Amino acid sequence: MTLQLHDTLQGKKVPFVPLKEGEVTMYLCGPTVYNFAHIGNARPAVVFDLLARLLRRSYKLTFARNITDVDDKINAASIESGKPIEEITARYIKAYNDDMGALGVSPPDLEPRATHHIGEMIAMIEKLIDKGFAYEAEGHVLFDVSSNESYGSLSKRDLREMIAGSRVEVAPYKKAAHDFVLWKPSTPELPGWDSPWGRGRPGWHIECSAMAEKHLGDTIDIHAGGRDLVFPHHENEMAQSSCAHDGAPFARYWLHNGFLSMDQTKMSKSLGNVLLVHELIKTIPGEVIRLALLGAHYKQPLDWSAETLESARRMLDRLYGAVQGIDVPTDIRAAADVPESLVAALEDDLNSPKAMAEFFALARSLNKATDEDTKVQLAAQMYACGDLMGLLQTDPDSWFAGHVEGNLSSDDIESLIAKRNAAKANRDFATADAIRDQLSEAGVTIQDSRDGTTWRRS
Ligand code: AMP
Ligand code: ZN
Repeated sequence: MTLQLHDTLQGKKVPFVPLKEGEVTMYLCGPTVYNFAHIGNARPAVVFDLLARLLRRSYKLTFARNITDVDDKINAASIESGKPIEEITARYIKAYNDDMGALGVSPPDLEPRATHHIGEMIAMIEKLIDKGFAYEAEGHVLFDVSSNESYGSLSKRDLREMIAGSRVEVAPYKKAAHDFVLWKPSTPELPGWDSPWGRGRPGWHIECSAMAEKHLGDTIDIHAGGRDLVFPHHENEMAQSSCAHDGAPFARYWLHNGFLSMDQTKMSKSLGNVLLVHELIKTIPGEVIRLALLGAHYKQPLDWSAETLESARRMLDRLYGAVQGIDVPTDIRAAADVPESLVAALEDDLNSPKAMAEFFALARSLNKATDEDTKVQLAAQMYACGDLMGLLQTDPDSWFAGHVEGNLSSDDIESLIAKRNAAKANRDFATADAIRDQLSEAGVTIQDSRDGTTWRRS
């Protein structure tokens, strides 16, 4: 494999060489679970899922995507809704996994949760204090940024300039404005854990350092996330981990995806301009959304519009149209591989638009083919490309029958309607109403008449 990746730390595209031959470790900063994921949040999940699929062709990959389940925003959501924190986090962890599954994102090998790693975080903080990189003050533990020579190298910031330009009011317990929190005290109402510094809770950055260390080792091969995480989150993770590990590099390659925007404005929960995956998948096939997200190179900005989705839908229709009606025997399908040109596009810093162009070139060859054997071979290759890209995962006839409209298939809808009618006949109106609600949630409207029940997608 001749993979090249753009490493944020080196600021350029470089050949990828893992620490251990034949094995790769990858860590992706995952969701903070207090809300549904929007399509901006889905972008890193989808693009790094594609990278994971590519890596698995050549390496034994261990891929961890964490869950941040302790955070001020989660506490605020709990107070606002009056629901216990565990109920909120459990609900949104499930929603996140369901939503990403609908976009064809394979589950990572590991999904560590911050609250299950408090002991590891405390141990790492103690190590940082012992080695002189952190200090305790008024129940807080802070990382002493001035103790780390290379601080700022990931985000290309000069610490002296940062200090000179800083207008932040310095909290009394901090030695310097840019020192960041490793541990902070908790009030009795907020989640907290016993620690050598009193009852408290971790800062955000230490979670990822501790979870990466526990599951992937002191030095990981690839650390990924959205652009907005470069500073402060990844800069701080890098400082903590390399200082705790006597200067060993934390990540050999840092990968960051560009922002997804709408009307040129970054999509973000705080701005409120969000399109939730949870809502979109009720009416739009997950593969359409996935392809729309892969339509731009992952490092580039991606401006989202109705046209983005329409064009992805048309593209998928062309791909499904090419393979429709060709019966590919299982053994031929299993033996087929992706054309070298498509793999080469992905090996060039995950150039998904170029890879899609190669996918279409294959579809055109298939459309032109007249000989039956050639058609079967090319269709088998198309499915191999689909497996790598996370596309063409549905039977073509079902695709065109609208099988994947929303997250319910036509068969699913028919069988739910049959169940509802049976419930009505048994005067079990609660069940009948629940089924109607389930259908309506999935964007399906039903109409009862003397001739039976008809349905349509809204
Ligand atoms: P959060 O749940 O806000 O911590 O975000 C989860 C992931 O989504 C992080 O990797 C963010 O960098 C990424 N992210 C958030 N908003 C966007 C956006 N508009 N475009 C691309 N990535 C984003
Ligand atoms: Zn992180």
